[in-house]
Amino acid sequence: MRFVRSEKLKLSEASRMQSKATVSKLGAVLLGKHVACDAYDEARPIRVVTHAHADHMVGLGKSLKNCEVTIMTPATKDMIDALKGPRFLSRGTVKTLDYGEAFTYEDETLTLHYADHILGTAQALVEDKEQTRILYTSDFRYSRTPLVKADILVMEATYGDPVRVRPFGMMAEGILVSLVEQGLKRGPVYVFGYHGKLQKMMQILYAAKIKAPFIVPEKICRVSKVCERHGMKLGRQLIPFDGEKAQSMLSQNEPCVVFYHSYSRKKVEGEALQIHASGWEFRKPCRKVGANKYVVALSDHSDFNELLEYVERCNPRMVITDKHRSEAANIFAREIEKRLKIPAKAAPV
Ligand SMILES: [Zn+2]
Repeated sequence: MRFVRSEKLKLSEASRMQSKATVSKLGAVLLGKHVACDAYDEARPIRVVTHAHADHMVGLGKSLKNCEVTIMTPATKDMIDALKGPRFLSRGTVKTLDYGEAFTYEDETLTLHYADHILGTAQALVEDKEQTRILYTSDFRYSRTPLVKADILVMEATYGDPVRVRPFGMMAEGILVSLVEQGLKRGPVYVFGYHGKLQKMMQILYAAKIKAPFIVPEKICRVSKVCERHGMKLGRQLIPFDGEKAQSMLSQNEPCVVFYHSYSRKKVEGEALQIHASGWEFRKPCRKVGANKYVVALSDHSDFNELLEYVERCNPRMVITDKHRSEAANIFAREIEKRLKIPAKAAPV
């Protein structure tokens, strides 16, 4: 009898824990009773934007209209202003929260914690009145992201499949530098990536003392200036792509590095070297995909081993993997249960 009662107790404890966090069908990461991260949820008064990537700003217009408050770090606010124009966020009540600063709503407290991903990225932690710590990691690169202790852990699962590992570590950064150096001997070099990753590449090239000017389209220029304002060292003055100076450099085939967004339809003609940054490269740090075209394995996410290591060190009582943003969430949840013996499930189901 006693055994049955304690099993029942365990079950009700588990379901109480489960009710404290999930991911909705629309992709909102729901923490505690009041917070919805990274997508709109009509029942939640507090919206958190963990960073300025599009898949984490889902339904932001609706949140601004309907939520009591929309919370983000000051750097993420500046990034969104740069990407969407300063009037976008002024439609609602926005509160910026520094890393570690507390925001209390009724009986729950929210804090944001640093995550190494793009500028401004935060892990979101909610502590409820029972002192349960409910954490959403958001996207992060493991090596420079501080661990936050939690009872319930909601994880990103982009590379949650055990085959998604990058044994070559940081080698891709050195390869990027030497490819650019080689390409500059012939003229302009074109670099493609997402917002955040482009600025990371500028930072790497600047640190490696690449002297050639950087040419950037307007939106990338705005985002880069935000990064510089928040302390990233991107080097020299950025030259606007549409300006006379850039156009004359390009027409005369002068050495320079041109940065384009991965979605850019701009065509690169002639012999110029093209380098595409991708997180989806696992076998080699660099792959030649055309006569003058390379893919370099630069990621701003943890690989499988790093995701698992975060869970192991955090040692929560349960894990939820974000299936809205990653196909690998089911696999990752299974691997966590198998390897770490921690209850885990993917959401939304
Ligand atoms: Zn992201």
